[in-house]
Amino acid sequence: MADEPTLLPPHMPGSPPPPGAVLADRDKLSHINTYGDLPRWYRDYAFNCIDCGIAQLWTAEQQKWYYEEAKGHIWAVAVRCRACRKRRKAGGTSSSADPKEASP
Ligand SMILES: [Zn+2]
Repeated sequence: MADEPTLLPPHMPGSPPPPGAVLADRDKLSHINTYGDLPRWYRDYAFNCIDCGIAQLWTAEQQKWYYEEAKGHIWAVAVRCRACRKRRKAGGTSSSADPKEASP
């Protein structure tokens, strides 16, 4: 097995859905190109914002929306709280230069 990023998405393919999990709609995950490791369910995912360190909860419903409706990348996980995402989107006080956002 190759070394993969240690920050795994909250869903775990192959595991039975835990209590309270939201089941994935695999038809809506067809945009994801992977070797069968599509999520089968989502669960609330606790993390700390990498910018301000505040404790956050990325809910199962939000993940379902992100992956299935917003067509988010399957290895993408929430790392920032809502306030910090807003702040970054607005530009203004960017602490680090992001090439994607910095380009005209
Ligand atoms: Zn934050």
